[in-house]
Amino acid sequence: MSLETYKPADVRDAAAAYAKLEKSKAEIAYKNTAEPLASMGATHWNVRPDIYRESQHIAINLTGGTWNSYFDHPEGFWRDYTSVDHWYKAGRGDPLPEHLGDAAVAWILGEHTGAMPVEWLIWWGWWIIPADGLGWRPYNGWQGDHKGKDGHIHITYRIKR
Ligand SMILES: [Zn+2]
Repeated sequence: MSLETYKPADVRDAAAAYAKLEKSKAEIAYKNTAEPLASMGATHWNVRPDIYRESQHIAINLTGGTWNSYFDHPEGFWRDYTSVDHWYKAGRGDPLPEHLGDAAVAWILGEHTGAMPVEWLIWWGWWIIPADGLGWRPYNGWQGDHKGKDGHIHITYRIKR
């Protein structure tokens, strides 16, 4: 199956769903300000095209799972277009097994990272900002600890200049 023909059912209506969300952006932003503990944003797949291709590759060849972004991802940062979460087969909320995530992270941060520079990545209770050279550090659990039942890889890619 080629990357171009791989489309999870949910992806097909993503553009329409995102357009609808855009209309209510101001309203949602206000709600998030007023209720900081409100549930996280709606799922979408509207990411930069090269990130879309990269995410499909990772899901098909490395995790065997799914990926998505969401509205205001991560909350307060508005990096939806350059941020992705990798979950397991059933989609957002289906925990990714540790060994599969480990393999994907090794690839993402390995030799491939020159093509798709990562700004920060969170996985299994740890996070890393490759540019600062400090390596892995414990993640404080803001928006979930990303391990066990919350097992998913969060990636924010660098904005191209
Ligand atoms: Zn995330």
